[in-house]
Amino acid sequence: SSFEQLDLKPEVLKGVTGMNFRKPSKVQERTLPLLLMNPPKNLIGQSQSGTGKTAAFVLNILSRVDISTPEMQRSPQALVLAPSRELARQICGVVRLMGHYMENLLVDAAVPVEAAQRSRKIEASIVVGTPGTVQDLIKRRSMNVSKMRIMVLDEADNMLDQQGMGDQCNRVKAMLPKNIQVVLFSATFPENVVTYAHNFAPQANEMTL
Ligand code: AMP
Repeated sequence: SSFEQLDLKPEVLKGVTGMNFRKPSKVQERTLPLLLMNPPKNLIGQSQSGTGKTAAFVLNILSRVDISTPEMQRSPQALVLAPSRELARQICGVVRLMGHYMENLLVDAAVPVEAAQRSRKIEASIVVGTPGTVQDLIKRRSMNVSKMRIMVLDEADNMLDQQGMGDQCNRVKAMLPKNIQVVLFSATFPENVVTYAHNFAPQANEMTL
């Protein structure tokens, strides 16, 4: 199969080709048709890092965000939560590369920063962050979530290994509009992750990738 066969916007396709991705990885081939469906469906995916899952959820996000007006460009519509600042930054970089040909696309990282920067406002359509910082920004009203439509939780097993992080993700989700598309990836699914995932992404399609 090819990226051309997927329902991607032309400028997103250009971004993928620009990264020298010649064809979808197995994970992308299996998840993207489901992720891109309308109405959107939730997904719980078991996938190791190195399989191309980042591109899978990033391509879905890029295909769905509306950046047709300055107001929408500044309205967070997709949120990715990752267990560390490093991973959040890395995902942010992938979003920027793949979204390179989307004019006026604004992407921001919501990760722990120096106190002086803490009051800044998030004005981007795609936000990648760590759970605590994102929760904080929403509570301070530094990030408007009224237009949010997609939430991705990456490396759920790692998150649940860190004290309080699972709860933070749940609190963030509770502050977002209902009926958003929820995508959860984890490399492993011990019982606690299974239980958490089903609560976090109700009625999700489950895939072992
Ligand atoms: P990930 O599993 O998301 O961490 O991706 C692992 C690596 O595979 C990254 O370096 C990606 O740039 C690369 N990659 C992902 N999808 C593709 C693809 N379809 N073709 C070539 N490389 C890819």
